[in-house]
Amino acid sequence: MSRSRSESKDKCGVCSKVTGSDTWLACELCDGWFHSKCVNVKDDAYKILQELETCHWYCSQCNVKLGKIIPTMVKLHDRIQDVDNRVAKMENDMTVHIGNVIKIKQDITEKMTGRKQHD
Ligand SMILES: [Zn+2]
Ligand SMILES: [Zn+2]
Repeated sequence: MSRSRSESKDKCGVCSKVTGSDTWLACELCDGWFHSKCVNVKDDAYKILQELETCHWYCSQCNVKLGKIIPTMVKLHDRIQDVDNRVAKMENDMTVHIGNVIKIKQDITEKMTGRKQHD
């Protein structure tokens, strides 16, 4: 991921000004560019954001969206997990049922032929 400014004509999402020498931050969601001072990111925080790839920054608009999306995603994840568990249980039950059916079929065959079947 590159946080360096690609074009000098990028405008700040807050003040809409093009500034060369100021420090900038890119929102990782909307790709918008913002002066670090326009989004109240202090110099030391800015340094950390630049140095740590695991440190993510989102603009305030995306932050609001994320604040709403993340709980939904977490709930969705839980539901998917629940469905997965149920499918796994159903598959397990099916295997047991199929096993029973095979056994019943073998029993019938044994009774009909009067001798044991060998696999
Ligand atoms: Zn600005
Ligand atoms: Zn954004």
